[in-house]
Amino acid sequence: MIGLGVESTAHTFSCAILEKKGKQGKVLSDVRKIYRPPEGEGIHPREASRHHIENSATVLSECLQESGITIKDLDIISYAAGPGLGPCLRVGAVVARSLASYYDIPIYPVNHAIGHIELGKLLTGAKNPLVLLVSGGHTMLLAFLNKQWRVFGETLDITLGQLLDQFGRSLGFASPCGKNIESLATSTSNYVLLPYSVKGNDVSFSGLLSATKSIIPQNKADACFSLQETAFAMISEVVERALSFTNKKELLIVGGVAANKRLSEMLQDVCKRHHCRFFVAPQKYAGDCGSQICWTGLLEAQVKKGVTLENTFVTQSWRLDSVKVDY
Ligand code: AMP
Ligand code: MG
Repeated sequence: MIGLGVESTAHTFSCAILEKKGKQGKVLSDVRKIYRPPEGEGIHPREASRHHIENSATVLSECLQESGITIKDLDIISYAAGPGLGPCLRVGAVVARSLASYYDIPIYPVNHAIGHIELGKLLTGAKNPLVLLVSGGHTMLLAFLNKQWRVFGETLDITLGQLLDQFGRSLGFASPCGKNIESLATSTSNYVLLPYSVKGNDVSFSGLLSATKSIIPQNKADACFSLQETAFAMISEVVERALSFTNKKELLIVGGVAANKRLSEMLQDVCKRHHCRFFVAPQKYAGDCGSQICWTGLLEAQVKKGVTLENTFVTQSWRLDSVKVDY
């Protein structure tokens, strides 16, 4: 079965084509264009959606060309229906609906967060993991039970990605800034004490953001290092508690922040203590991409017919723990 997946929830517009044979999936192409706001500024939904509109035709045709597949060969089309920014989500939905209706191809709305998890499982081989989803839009700890992903901890305010991006912007970096912060942090090991806030099994990053901003004038590298050490230690604590509670023997990190080497290092230590296998999504597929949407659509197509065009939708705040997973 061959699918096309369209991702457009935030800064990335991406189309990907995957082939599914039994339980195996193969990425035939995954093309992306990323909206970059001016230095020091955050994502502007209207500007990001304008970027997606302007780039959608090129991304789609490059994706088809690279895969060697024509639209008529597609068995299904899936698109990210949420959660995300309304104007951005609508661009992907319109592209998917237009193709589905003109070529008469079944269409599947997909939850973006579930997409991160399913692609992570496909690419790492994790079977029944505790999942840490850390991205621009999410900071969640999840385990699968009775056909639903259950939340074992999450952020009470901003996400880990927002923490890094908002702090990075205050240093003058262009968003997304996680990579810049990671490389500045490697140049020092001078830790400045910062507020550490774990409540139950949830984390809170907003006080940490304000406190870190106040130490910038002294030393940017120290601030980046201390921010990472504090935030990742908070994440490690809740992961460790959730591993003890769920008794899972696998940990999988997905989402854009999964690309961070220091985070992996700290979580690998936790896994060693708990005799737990450690998996992290490959860097290229950790962040937002069409493959996550395409693969989840292909999994859904095993058990469900596509939806009618009238029943396609976008939902800005579509929580993944409200989705029934039947495949
Ligand atoms: P996503 O929303 O899944 O596309 O993830 C985007 C987020 O990942 C942004 O907040 C980025 O700053 C963050 N990110 C990307 N690379 C890294 C990295 N190497 N270290 C930390 N965060 C990163
Ligand atoms: Mg994402």
